[in-house]
Amino acid sequence: MTMFTYDALPGRVVFGAGAARTGLLDEVDRLGAQAILLIASSSEYELAARLCERFADRLSATFSGVRPHVPVEVAERAREAAAGSDLVLSVGGGSTTGTAKAVALSTGLPIVAVPTTYAGSEVTPVWGMTDQGRKTTGTDRRVLPRTVVYDPELTLSLPAELSAASGLNAMAHCVEAFWAPRRNPVSSAVAEDGIRHLSRGLETVTATPDDLTARTELLLGAYLAGSAFAVAGSGLHHKICHVLGGAFDLPHAQTHAIVLPYVLAYNAPNASVATDRIGAALRQPDPIAALRQLSEKLGVPTGLRDLGVSEADLDAVVDDILAIAPGDNPTPVTAAGVRAILHAAWAGSDPIGPSA
Ligand code: NAD
Repeated sequence: MTMFTYDALPGRVVFGAGAARTGLLDEVDRLGAQAILLIASSSEYELAARLCERFADRLSATFSGVRPHVPVEVAERAREAAAGSDLVLSVGGGSTTGTAKAVALSTGLPIVAVPTTYAGSEVTPVWGMTDQGRKTTGTDRRVLPRTVVYDPELTLSLPAELSAASGLNAMAHCVEAFWAPRRNPVSSAVAEDGIRHLSRGLETVTATPDDLTARTELLLGAYLAGSAFAVAGSGLHHKICHVLGGAFDLPHAQTHAIVLPYVLAYNAPNASVATDRIGAALRQPDPIAALRQLSEKLGVPTGLRDLGVSEADLDAVVDDILAIAPGDNPTPVTAAGVRAILHAAWAGSDPIGPSA
């Protein structure tokens, strides 16, 4: 019997090559903004300033002190910069969107987000902040951007390696959406289409990073991935990556890319419909092999050992993963199961199912 709850999220999305160049003024006008805080990291600042040329007189403040994982002191400085503003405009990757979210969380200011990577944060109500190395996350609709302007042209400059890692991270959002706690037919449909677009984009982006068609596929896939993740939530894969990232200070996107096939292999025997849909979207009957081949083609490391993790340290994080693993994962999450996933993912060996 089909039963589900779908908590739809609001938000306006404007998508298309050149949309930021031509449409941003209309979008800030729609929100009646007269005093805008522009947030962009120093590397994206010039681009952001160019996009704001037509309403430069309405920029009341700028903030470029963006740092990965939004340290609380950065959030505090951005909030101070927001005094007197009526809108936050963020131009940049997930760290920049995250800084805008930190401002919105305490001020309630609306956000217009112009993403330049495939992180997907711009369509989620999830915020994250780091205090002395410890990351805290939460969900609050005040941080969900009011408008997102997706412009694939802005992603042309994203280096090939970062594009691959960021795109595979979006792929993880889509795959996991099939069994995450708040999954429903809408999030699964969105995730399946996201996989389709992401795989098409990823197949060509590293060879031809300046291919606008591939960039458009990837950004559309990233939008769908973020939307599916926002609704379905995070499941076993994200929990494992969260614990690994915290314990060993690992790069976010590469960790996701390495772990994903192993969690898919663990769940596949008890999630055959999801596995078939993921395979169909990847245009290969074996989605586990397809994901591994894609990572290989993109030159992403295949094992956690390549990220400097010591195998002897893996067992120490098993309990932390078990403590936060979702209770309704397709394959029950056991200590032996988590240990098997971690050791196989460390070695980069062929992913195996739960009972093998
Ligand atoms: P990022 O924002 O840190 O950007 C990575 C690097 O890419 C930076 O050096 C940046 O300057 C550069 N960059 C960005 N756009 C560029 C472009 N177009 N051309 C060239 N360089 C560019 O990394 P990210 O992967 O976008 O975001 C990761 C962060 O987002 C993490 O903190 C993660 O936790 C968070 N995140 C949050 C959510 C959520 O729902 N809250 C979802 C996904 C990711």
